[in-house]
Amino acid sequence: MTDDHIQHTWRLANADGGEISIDLWTDGENVRVDGGPDDGHDDDRGQTAVDQLLAKYTAAGYRLVRDYPVNDPAPLDDEAPDVEPDGKPEACPECGSPVEYDPNHCSDYREGPAWLCTGCRWGQYLVA
Ligand SMILES: [Zn+2]
Repeated sequence: MTDDHIQHTWRLANADGGEISIDLWTDGENVRVDGGPDDGHDDDRGQTAVDQLLAKYTAAGYRLVRDYPVNDPAPLDDEAPDVEPDGKPEACPECGSPVEYDPNHCSDYREGPAWLCTGCRWGQYLVA
């Protein structure tokens, strides 16, 4: 079996020789349990599920033997356009308020990524 889809694995054991492994998949969502009372259990809540499972098993007498990264997380969907580019003005040149990034600012004459003042609504389109 390949582990290409595994991002991180936690291994637990108890005094009776019981073993559990928890795998977090590279999508950061899927979690799979092998062994123990939840053998074959699937979850899609990522790290939240891992934390809950670890707490549950630790309370049940298991201890974490080791955990280790397996593969890098899958690259995030780069469709998300709200990653802020470089060159953000420190403050609005008009009123000094903080400036925020708007990936799709619309005005009468133009549409596109822009810096916008949170105070006076001064705006400046980014130069492509
Ligand atoms: Zn301003």
